Formats: sequence, C-alpha cells, structure tokens
Amino acid sequence: MASYSSISAKDSECVMQTYTHQPIALERGEGAVVWDVDGKEYIDCVAGIAVNNVGHCHPAVVKAIQDQAAKLIHVSNLYYTEMQANLAEKLVSLTGMDRVFFCNSGAEAVEAAMKLARMVTGKHEFVALKGSFHGRTMNPLSVTYKEAYKEPFKPMPVKATFADFGDAEDVANSIGPGTAAVIVEPIQGEGGINVPSEGFLQEVRKVCDETGTLLIFDEVQTGFGRTGKWFCKEHSGVQPDIMTMAKAMAGGLPMGGIAAREGLTFTKSQHASTFGGGPLVCAAALASIKVMEDENLIERSREMGEYFRKQLSDLGRDDFLEVRGKGLMIGVETGRPCADFVNAAREMGLLLNCTSDTVLRLAPPLTISKEQIDTVVDILGKV
Ligand SMILES: *Cc1c(COP(=O)(O)O)cnc(C)c1O
Repeated sequence: MASYSSISAKDSECVMQTYTHQPIALERGEGAVVWDVDGKEYIDCVAGIAVNNVGHCHPAVVKAIQDQAAKLIHVSNLYYTEMQANLAEKLVSLTGMDRVFFCNSGAEAVEAAMKLARMVTGKHEFVALKGSFHGRTMNPLSVTYKEAYKEPFKPMPVKATFADFGDAEDVANSIGPGTAAVIVEPIQGEGGINVPSEGFLQEVRKVCDETGTLLIFDEVQTGFGRTGKWFCKEHSGVQPDIMTMAKAMAGGLPMGGIAAREGLTFTKSQHASTFGGGPLVCAAALASIKVMEDENLIERSREMGEYFRKQLSDLGRDDFLEVRGKGLMIGVETGRPCADFVNAAREMGLLLNCTSDTVLRLAPPLTISKEQIDTVVDILGKV
C-alpha cells in the first residue's frame, strides 16, 4: 500500500493545488469513523462536508450500488429508467414540490435553478445574501458573497445584489424591476453555520410574493436530514418556488437536483445533463433515503444535535463564544482563526473543519452514536 508521503508527493505534483490539504491520506470508513493509510482512526465530523449523512459505506447503500453497477451503470436520458422515475416520485413527495430535474453537483443544481428562474421570469438579476455560498461555476459564483472566490474571474456574468442575512427589509430594498429571484440558504453553511433570525424566511417569502419575485432555497448543504428535518425549509414552514439539493443526496455518490413548484418547469430541450439522474446514482439515492427512513435518522439528527450542542456549551471553554446550528449542522464561533485548532484535534483523532475563518464546523454522519459524541466533546475539551 502507498504511504502518505508518496501519495501526497504525487498529488502535489500532478493535481492543481486548489485545496488546503490536511496532512493525512484516508483509506477506508465505516459509520462515523475513517482510517488513514497508517491505520490511525478518526471520528469524522466533516463527513465529506455534510455528504455522508448515512455514514461511511453503509451496507445497504454499498449493496444497492453493487447490485445496480452489475446491472446498468449509465444510459442516456433519451431512455427512461425505473430508478430515476422512482427517485423523482420519492423526492416530489419529500419536498412537496411538483417536479424535479437531476444533475451532478451542488453548483449544477444552483445553475439549473438560476436558469429556470431566468427563463420563467424573463429577468436576469438576483438578490443573494451576505455570507452566502452557492458553488464555484460562474453563475453560482455570481451569487456567492466571498470576494476572494470571485476576484480572479471578474467580471461576473450575473448581476447580484447582496442583502444582510436576517434583514428582510434589506432584501425588499434590494429587489429591483430586473430581479428574477432571491436565493437563500435556509441556514448558511460555508458562511459560518448562520441560522437566520426568527421570522426572516417567512418575511422574505412575503416580500417575494408581494413583488412577484421567485424564491430559491439552496438546500445543498442543509438537505437530507442534516438539520433535523428532511429539508431545512420545514423548520420555517416556508415553501420556496425552487429548491436545490446535492451533497448528501446519493449517500456519497455525486448527484444534484432541483425541485420546483407547479407551473415552474423546463420543457423539451431547455436543459439537459448527460449523467444527470443515471441509474447508479439514483439507486444509491433511493437506498440512502430508505436508510434514513428505516433508521429514523431525521429524528436522530434532531436529538443528537441538541445533545451535541448542549455538551459543547457545557464544556465551558471561554474561547467557544457561541455554539449554534440545527440538528447535526453545528458551528462553534471561536472569534479567531481556527486552523491550528483543527490540526490539533486531528492529531487527537477528530476530523472537523474550519469555515468562515473562525467557525469550527461539526457535521458528522447522522448515525453518530452518543458515545462517539462524548468522545468528540472530550477531545474538544482538551484541544
Ligand atoms: C457545497 C455547496 C454548494 C456547491 O456544491 P458542489 O457540489 O461543491 O458544487 C452549493 N450550495 C451550497 C449551500 C453548498 O453548501
């Protein structure tokens, strides 16, 4: 087996170095635990960044992938497959939306949502929020807040106005005659696990209704049980016009999609994806959703999330300025750069990451046990 140093050397030489790597190479995973190539064990509170919601290599997901791979991996969307039809039916039911479109990533989902909003409104500007993150392709990047991500690629192709997160009046004032849609993460992920103030999403819905503006929820990170509901929108009772999903959608395989309300739909030739909704990822998604149902992972996310946040608050660390989030989407504001903290935690057997410079993000598999949470909290107390 290759060593860490040979793997990292080869990567450094041959891969465009866009990522700030942690100095380990991971080899296998099971549930909420992963092992590196030296056999060191870690509790994984990164989980692929809110991807591995059903845990690493869940046997039911592995089996569904193996069985489907042996039967049919890919066919063109020129043909129907049972897997895609079944998944679409399931998602329509889980989201309360009318129809879905399948793609392969979060950025592609946001891209599809933006294209759909432009097409149905005939308008081409967007209102987004300060602190937002919507992906790295050009259109999603246009509605992403962080300047550093956009700077080398300017000008942006889409005009976006950024309103204060939590300030519905600012959203209202940002909407102009050219605004197609307001795009919102119901809890901001990359921006630092920011939970909107009470009533904000309901007020934004009202503003959109009054101005005839579409409302897009980007649920790429918050979806599939992460926040203790199937989708984060359920906490507010607000139904968007279009919503995006990806990350945890297919149990770890790359998949994205949008769901839209009745009357909002692409028709013939208006959008397409070669790989979107292929039988392999659809089988994985169906299996992953079934695991969430069979193991009550939505409820678990809510309960374990509450327990986790309480234990973190009770630690009494004075550098944990605020513990926030919903379900197992947890952020700890430290008020200072937390990269060193992440390194020290890793050496003690805990993977977590730092987002928005100063926020520790904890997004473990929803299958994480109470004992594992206790171990994580114990480590965080000692770091
Ligand atoms: C991760 C993320 C994206 C981008 O998803 P990719 O699969 O990396 O393209 C978009 N929106 C939100 C809210 C995300 O968290």
